[in-house]
Amino acid sequence: MSKHQLSNFIGGKFVDPINSAYLDSCNPATGQVFAKVPRSGKEDVDDAVSCALKAFPSWSEQPTQFRSKVMLKIADILESRLDEFAKLESQDQGKPITVAKAIDIPRAIYNFRFFATYILHMVEEQRTLDGPIRALSYVQHMPVGVAGLISPWNLPLYLLTWKIAPAIAFGNTCVAKPSELTSLTAYKLCGVFNEAGLPPGVVNIVFGLGPDAGEALVCHPEVPLISFTGSTLVGNRIAELTAPMCKKLSLELGGKNAGIVYEDVDLDECVDACIRSSFSNQGEICLCTSRLYIHHSIYNDFLNRFVTAARNFRVGDPSDPNVNMGALVSAQHYEKVKGYIELAASSGGVVHCGLGVDELPQDCRGGHYIAPTVITGLTESSPCIQDEIFGPVVCISSFQTDEEVLKKANGVRYGLCATLWTKDVNRALTISRKLRVGTVWTNCWLVRDLHMPFGGMKMSGVGRESGADSKHFFTEAKTVCLRIK
Ligand code: NAD
Repeated sequence: MSKHQLSNFIGGKFVDPINSAYLDSCNPATGQVFAKVPRSGKEDVDDAVSCALKAFPSWSEQPTQFRSKVMLKIADILESRLDEFAKLESQDQGKPITVAKAIDIPRAIYNFRFFATYILHMVEEQRTLDGPIRALSYVQHMPVGVAGLISPWNLPLYLLTWKIAPAIAFGNTCVAKPSELTSLTAYKLCGVFNEAGLPPGVVNIVFGLGPDAGEALVCHPEVPLISFTGSTLVGNRIAELTAPMCKKLSLELGGKNAGIVYEDVDLDECVDACIRSSFSNQGEICLCTSRLYIHHSIYNDFLNRFVTAARNFRVGDPSDPNVNMGALVSAQHYEKVKGYIELAASSGGVVHCGLGVDELPQDCRGGHYIAPTVITGLTESSPCIQDEIFGPVVCISSFQTDEEVLKKANGVRYGLCATLWTKDVNRALTISRKLRVGTVWTNCWLVRDLHMPFGGMKMSGVGRESGADSKHFFTEAKTVCLRIK
């Protein structure tokens, strides 16, 4: 029997889907049904948009201090329930409880705090035109209206709140649709909104499938702005659907991120960091490293140490605090990742470790586990090198020159991020400049300053998010010009 039955959150109330249809959501660690999630349709989305429209005039006119205060309260309540939310996130998504506690929930809390504070310190530009005609011009950043927010399953609450927080901070109301695979913490968050005193209708959450509830939201004529994080395939579909309606669109899409390791690194430190960047959250972070290019002079040494460390990365029950890696999100995703590993093995690749996990505790049998997988010997044109696998799989090869490694690192259709490992600052600056990606990390990974732009180049997305970038996206800039006589 499922433990949780979810309902939609519309106009501050918990309501069942109009068609009374539900989806089963499984615990990835056991394969057992864990929650019943509304399979909402267009009518539910229409209701949610109506409530968001109704709430918009009042919310958008509230003083910034009021909006900020409510958001800080949301953050405080979430923080007081961090353990509960972390446990649910781990059960719903398959990630280790330690990751949910250290990353997912704290970052969700920080999303509210960051934007609650950001809006208190915004300075608008103003200029005086001084010539034959004198005029004072200033910019007003006006909320856009009802924002449509669609998020994926890999960092469920973290990425959902990365959209909700800026949307409402800048005065919009919103309708959000979380991933159907991981809806639980979004549902629990709705109770927090009510407890914090967020006015009804400011945030509405509709659960369901992409082609039903997702497309109904994307195509709704009263939703002028869509913020989407997910696959490139679905991002393209949303771009196609919204183009004739001139909607504002932010697309945070897939990645196939390269790590470049030079000969001057401290090998122990670098191997540890690359293991973390490759296998954290089962490799299910869009920013995970999935291709490693190692300077030829340290290649064998690096590979041996990396494979040993990958074998020692503990896979198992996500609720065990000593586990480094949990289960993949779904049976379907497991099959996809497994398919790529089998393809690598049958097309000339060497699979050094990974795939099956034989020694899992009894209660983990039936879960979707794949051990950290290391592959070498593939050509750059292999689908395992070119496609986003989005699992605990990393392909490793060597390089000799900067020119060669740049060609390889840039030789995929994605451009989300890259990591560089070297002590040579000049080399780091030169290579960073030439990498066609939205973020380059040198000697670190996943370090985020929310003031800095985040987003991808090429097929990894359109637009950037950050304090200032999110302000531009979630508002319309209006110039007001006043003649001075
Ligand atoms: P997905 O594209 O399958 O789904 C994402 C969301 O879109 C889900 O809520 C889904 O229900 C919805 N959706 C699906 N079809 C839709 C449609 N036709 N119209 C409207 N909505 C629709 O992605 P996923 O499998 O949930 O997530 C994994 C992907 O997300 C990976 O490609 C990963 O790289 C990407 N991702 C990117 C970032 C980033 O910041 N660039 C962050 C996290 C994840």
